[in-house]
Order: sequence, then C-alpha cells, then structure tokens
Amino acid sequence: MPAKTTELLTIALLVDDEKGFTASHFSTRRALLSKPELRPDVKALYDDAGMESYDLLIVGAGPAGSFAAEKLARAGVRVALFDGRPAGEPKACGGGVTSKALKAWPHLLEAVGRTVEDLEMYSPGGKRLYLKLAEPFAIYSRTAFDSYLRDRAGEAGAHIFSERVSFKPRKGEEDWVVRSREGREWRAPVIVAADGANSPIAKKLAGALSKAEMEVAFGYRAPLPRETDAPTVVAFLPGWAGYAWAFPRPDHISFGIATSQDAFDHQTLDEMLWRFMAGYYRMRADVTAHLWRARKKDSARDEQTLTELRAKAERYAARIPGLNAKTWDERRACGAGWALLGDAAGFADPVTGEGIYYALRSAELFAEAYLEGVPLEYEARWREDFGRELRRAAEMRRRFYGNFWGAPFTERMIEFARAHKGIRKVLGELVAGDQGYVDLKRTLARRAIWPL
Ligand SMILES: Cc1cc2nc3c(=O)[nH]c(=O)nc-3n(C[C@H](O)[C@H](O)[C@H](O)COP(=O)(O)OP(=O)(O)OC[C@H]3O[C@@H](n4cnc5c(N)ncnc54)[C@H](O)[C@@H]3O)c2cc1C
Repeated sequence: MPAKTTELLTIALLVDDEKGFTASHFSTRRALLSKPELRPDVKALYDDAGMESYDLLIVGAGPAGSFAAEKLARAGVRVALFDGRPAGEPKACGGGVTSKALKAWPHLLEAVGRTVEDLEMYSPGGKRLYLKLAEPFAIYSRTAFDSYLRDRAGEAGAHIFSERVSFKPRKGEEDWVVRSREGREWRAPVIVAADGANSPIAKKLAGALSKAEMEVAFGYRAPLPRETDAPTVVAFLPGWAGYAWAFPRPDHISFGIATSQDAFDHQTLDEMLWRFMAGYYRMRADVTAHLWRARKKDSARDEQTLTELRAKAERYAARIPGLNAKTWDERRACGAGWALLGDAAGFADPVTGEGIYYALRSAELFAEAYLEGVPLEYEARWREDFGRELRRAAEMRRRFYGNFWGAPFTERMIEFARAHKGIRKVLGELVAGDQGYVDLKRTLARRAIWPL
C-alpha cells in the first residue's frame, strides 16, 4: 500500500474515534493532520455545509499569533492560523528582543539571531554613553524569527494557511467565518486577532485608535560595515520625540527612526536618518568624530558611505501602536468569542515602541485563560501582568521626550549616566526590560534626576 494512502487511512481511523486516545495517539494525530497536503481529506474538520471548521481561528502569524497557536495546539486545540505575508518578506521591525523575553522563553535563542552585550547610546546633542549590559538582549531578522515561531506552531499541530483573510462580524452566537480572496472559508466559535497594528478585526471588535495613538517607524536594511565591529546604537533625536537605531544582524544592519505619527514630517526625518547612518560609519572610522555633525575633513568619506548605502539600502516603514492612558483604561482586548493579541490589541511600549515581548506574553496569557476554560479572564490577566506598566509608560512619554533643567530630558539622562554608575545601571536595566516604568520614577528620583 502506498505510504500516503496508509497515512490517510490512519487519519480516518484516528479522527473517527478521538475520545479513546492516549496522549501519544493524540500527538500522532496532530502530526498527521498538520501535513497540509492531507488536510482536505480529514472529514472531521468539515461542517455540514462543507466548510472547514476549527475550535479557534487565529489571524496573523507574527510572534503573537504563532506563539498562541503553538501553546493551544500543543494542548490539543484545533487551531487554524492564517498569514498573508508573502514568503520571505520581513515584517518591518528592528528585531530587538529584550533579555526579559529571553529569560521568560529561553528557546527563543534557538532562532537565528545575534546576542548583544553592549550598547552605545547618544544624547540628542551627540554625547556618547557606552553601556555594558549585565543581561544581553538579542537581535533577529524578522524573517528568521517569525519562521522559527511559525514552524513551532505547525509542529505543535496548528494548521497553517498562507492566506490573507477577511472576516465578517458574526450575528449572535454564530461561528466566526474568515474568507480568503479566492472565496475559501473557515469557521470557529472563537476568533483571535493577531494581525498587527492596522488590524481591521480589532477596529471592528474594540474600536479604532486615533492618529495620535500611532507611532511611525521607518528605516533601511543595509549591508554590514566592512569592519567586523558593528556596534548596536540607540541615539535620541535632536529636536524630536523618539530615537534612531542601528541594529546589526547576522547578515545586514537595520537602521531606523521611531517617532510620533501626529508630528511626522517625512522629509526632515528621512534626512535625519541619513545623517545618522553617515554618522554611524563615521564614528567607526574615527571615535573623535560627532554622530550628528560632519566636520569638513569628514565630508569625502561621508559622501562615499552615503553613495554606497543609497545603492544598496532597502527601505521599510510601518506603524507601532502608542496608546494614551485613557485608551489603556477603556479599550478591551477580549469579549465573547474573541480576543486581540500583540499589536492588534495596542500592546507596545509607548516610550520605546518595544512590542515583541508583549506580543508573546499576551499570547501566553490568552492561551492559559482559554485552556483553563475562562477565556474572558484574559482581560484582567494582561492588565495585571503588563497593562499597568504600559499605561504608566503612556503617561511618562511626554516627559521622557520633554525638557528637564533647560535641556531635553534624554540629554540630561545620558549626561548623568556618563557620570554616575548607579544611573548607568538603571538605564541598562531599562534596556534589558527588567526596570519597569511604575517604579522608574522612584528609582531615578533617588538619584535626583527625575523631572518632578
Ligand atoms: C520599524 C519598526 C521597528 C520595530 N522594532 C522593534 C524592536 O526592535 N523590538 C520590539 O520588541 N518591537 C519592535 N517593533 C514592534 C514590533 O514589530 C511589534 O510590536 C510586533 O511585531 C508585534 O507582533 P504581532 O504578532 O502582534 O504583530 P505582527 O508582527 O505585525 O504580525 C502580524 C501578522 O499578521 C499578518 N496579517 C495581517 N493582516 C492579515 C490578514 N488579513 N490575513 C492574514 N494575515 C494577516 C501580517 O502579515 C503579519 O505577519 C518595531 C516596529 C516597527 C514598525
């Protein structure tokens, strides 16, 4: 008998009598069902109208969707996971994952990335601070990171569909239905939106966010500098809220700027990013140079750097949610038969734009609540776990990027940190994700720099 026919028969037998199975049968069944070429033959996944039916539909296989799918499928939940991003196209992202995330889920270190043990920070005026991190963080290419998490979801038994889907709000207690462009449909009693910052599902179920509650991040993926030493850099912007970054990855370097959408002036910020990129290479060649300002003697080298970059750099841009405190209080992330995860729920840090940790943690909290049979508990759990922190960050954002003692607060923070070991430590912990916002004011006030 051909191998494929044997597998089909095995599936038919397993599906017909699911109740009497042991755990190992169950994983065999999951492993077999996850084979995409076999799925259409599995009758138990079809309803009377011939539509594919699941326990749960997850739209979006970024970190949030894939992580939730893995956790749920591993526990035997029939999960359909959808993503419409073309293969190999990366999500626009710096790919920085804090040590807090790496400690919570050490398996993330299996994904191909690079760990970072030190960081250069620059004040808006160009003062440099070298930070040796007590806890390293990691930088991933999002293609590698997302495929790693998606593969784990598939191995756990989630059914993965490379489809962009749309959904209709349901009537009453009916199942949710999602539909591909070709008209193929899937249904389930629960829908999970993990479809990112622009989520149309979240808009329908939880309400739209205002323009002021979106940050913009854009940048360029560029070849790695020729020298082996490619430092990781974060530089606060002169005259603007936000920062520029240089995150070297195994095969390229990601440059970018994150700032508020409501004050976004594309041309000025793009010019600033090119200045930053030139400054980054300039500083590699000459440590006495200035990050933001070129001296006469730098101009020929800068011009050469920029010509090379212009020929090779690939541009990217996307939004990051940056909710205000009122929205944190009022916007819900779940209701009867639905839940929002990660960026779709607005779960990113309003000061730094960090969202990967919250995408993963929200996925975990939702999966736990669902598996315990109390999915609506998810709301109280995310609020307790990280909601207070992010709400606090929203309140602090204006002051963080505002003035203190006649200069930008970020300028003062770098100055103090250069002179003061204790403040360097706090900053290092903030970067690592170990220093929260709720007690940041108290920690810094003890060192007399917070703008009280
Ligand atoms: C430029 C930039 C830099 C950033 N840098 C960092 C950083 O260094 N560190 C950090 O922690 N965070 C960073 N962030 C934020 C981070 O990228 C997000 O918070 C994180 O990706 C959220 O994960 P997610 O799974 O919720 O959503 P996403 O990663 O956005 O995944 C959503 C997925 O849904 C899919 N999708 C959308 N609509 C549909 C549909 N209709 N059907 C099927 N699939 C759909 C998309 O293809 C996508 O794969 C950055 C963001 C930007 C824009």
